[in-house]
Amino acid sequence: MKLKRIIFISYTIFIFLFMSFGISFAETSSELQEKKKEIDNQIKEINSEIAGNKAQMTNALTQINKLNSEISTYEGEISDLETRITDVSAQIIEKENNIKEQETKYEQQNELLAKRLVALYESGSTSYLDLLLSADSLSDFISKYYMIEQLAEYDEDLLNQIENTKKQIEAEKEYLISAKAEIENSKVAIEGKKNSLASSKNQKEALVTTLTEEEKSLQEQLEEFEKDKKEVQQKLAALAAKYKGTVVAPSAAGYTSPLPGRTKSNITTGYGAYAGHTGVDFACPGGTAVLAVKSGTVVTSTALRYSNGNYKSYGEYIVIDHGDGTMTLYAHMQSGSRRVSVGSTVSQGQQIGSVGSTGNSTGNHLHFEVWVSGRRTNPVPYLP
Ligand SMILES: [Zn+2]
Repeated sequence: MKLKRIIFISYTIFIFLFMSFGISFAETSSELQEKKKEIDNQIKEINSEIAGNKAQMTNALTQINKLNSEISTYEGEISDLETRITDVSAQIIEKENNIKEQETKYEQQNELLAKRLVALYESGSTSYLDLLLSADSLSDFISKYYMIEQLAEYDEDLLNQIENTKKQIEAEKEYLISAKAEIENSKVAIEGKKNSLASSKNQKEALVTTLTEEEKSLQEQLEEFEKDKKEVQQKLAALAAKYKGTVVAPSAAGYTSPLPGRTKSNITTGYGAYAGHTGVDFACPGGTAVLAVKSGTVVTSTALRYSNGNYKSYGEYIVIDHGDGTMTLYAHMQSGSRRVSVGSTVSQGQQIGSVGSTGNSTGNHLHFEVWVSGRRTNPVPYLP
């Protein structure tokens, strides 16, 4: 009774260890593959975001270049207008000076005339006629007459001339003032355009800054994911290396392991684990070598496919007849990985193919069966 209990407990512990170890390996390997797939998807997503970002940035930079050239055109126009304003302002000052000069001349002329009139008055005459009448002789009369006539003509001409010049200058000055106002207005309009271009340029530049920051953060995320991916790949490589070349002693049945370094403790899905599970599964990285458990002759080496070419059932599989009443079956191997054909003689531990996921399989694993006298049996007692 006591012994039976101990055996039962030991068996329970054994089952527990066996299952936990098996499951933990399976989780580690498939989890890592799943994680890698997820990371790859995220990397793809970020790369497409980066590409979109770059396209936006190129577009913004092209627009900035265009705006820059438009702004520089306007700046050239503004500088031309400023030169014209300076020129016209100088011309206006010149005209103003001319007007002043003409006014001075006019005043001087007026003064001169007034002086003459004073002289006439002082000589006792109050008019040209009085002056004429004051002549003492004919010759005096004639000389006075001509003098007066010339004086009057000269005065009138000069005054008219000055008046005209002054008017002309003033008209020119008016024209220049309105021209200057016009130039100043167009300068203001062009400055307005330039400012609106500069503000849209600033907006584009802000966009580029934002895009640059976004890209920086995306690149950082990408680096993070690449790092994670590398880590996962290293873990997967370590898992693969862990078993590479390791040899497990043959079982009592004379079988060695169908996978390097694995024993029945690495089984991830047992015989009869679900209805119709006619062998045991070892989840492990794709590409792991599949080994003949005992020497024998290959009786099947083929791929099971639907009529449309897709893999079905065992997918790529091999059956070896060991000549001792037992046969072993290796299924779901990688496409193109089978190394032996029907009739080949294989030795124990010889690689016959690689682990894959062809046929009715959802992830990389080896499905292994043992047949005794043509009937499938639980492979566990046969395995090391
Ligand atoms: Zn299976």
